[in-house]
Amino acid sequence: HVDLLRERFGRVVYGIPPSVRPTGTPGVGPKVPGRPARADRRATAAGAQLAAIDVHKHYDRGHVRALNGATLHVDAGEFVALTGPSGSGKSTLLHLFAALDTPTSGRIVVAGRDLATMRHLDRYRRETVGLVFQLHNLLPHLTASQNVEVAMFGTHLSRTERRARASLLLAELQLGGFGRRHPPELSGGERQRVAIARALANEPSVLLADEPTGNLDSQAVQETLALLQRLRAERDLTIVLVTHDPQVAAAADRCVTITDGRVID
Ligand code: ADP
Repeated sequence: HVDLLRERFGRVVYGIPPSVRPTGTPGVGPKVPGRPARADRRATAAGAQLAAIDVHKHYDRGHVRALNGATLHVDAGEFVALTGPSGSGKSTLLHLFAALDTPTSGRIVVAGRDLATMRHLDRYRRETVGLVFQLHNLLPHLTASQNVEVAMFGTHLSRTERRARASLLLAELQLGGFGRRHPPELSGGERQRVAIARALANEPSVLLADEPTGNLDSQAVQETLALLQRLRAERDLTIVLVTHDPQVAAAADRCVTITDGRVID
């Protein structure tokens, strides 16, 4: 794949060389030589990949307080599980990180940049963050490949390049023979993998997932978790995943709980 991509796109877009791949337990220790250990990196908020700083989000003229002073720092390359009771503000925080909504007050900072002052939010949404939802939101009348290609509309890639990249991504997610199938012809786990492929289409550095395993059977949950761990290691992705499932939360480096719109780390 790397050779093919280098040939097609002039650079390696997927995967990192074995020399800089992490060894040992995923999520433990530095991933790239020269970077400080994770615990040290987390200590400096300025170095966080994602930060929510004293964020409030009110709806209905303040009658609904979805977030109530939430503060969270997520390190680059970290896999954080967000848990908490229903209605506690988990999805709201994810949407703010994805720039799908804006906070009532407080700051959302991504890689040192405050989203409130970012000029090209459409580009940020398309290229910096990848989103995966519980109901995968695939378009049923498009094939698996076309569902991935759609995410690349608006980029500099030609139609041929979009198709080639979708094909490589689907192969990477063990969906090589499924590109021409439509979502109704795929299992729940396969559909969720297509949704993950779509989320990765523009090589985001951050993957935001809202209950991505909520509709899957236990085997598909395990497969999806293994896939996320592998993608995180290979691409140095930062992952924030909302879940109610303790088994899923246990797969993360860190589990944080949101209660009444505040984060308890
Ligand atoms: P969780 O993901 O933890 O279940 P949410 O972030 O979805 O919680 O919602 C937090 C609170 O904000 C809930 O009380 C919910 O009803 C409310 N809420 C979420 N989105 C909206 C909205 N667009 N308008 C009004 N209230 C909302």
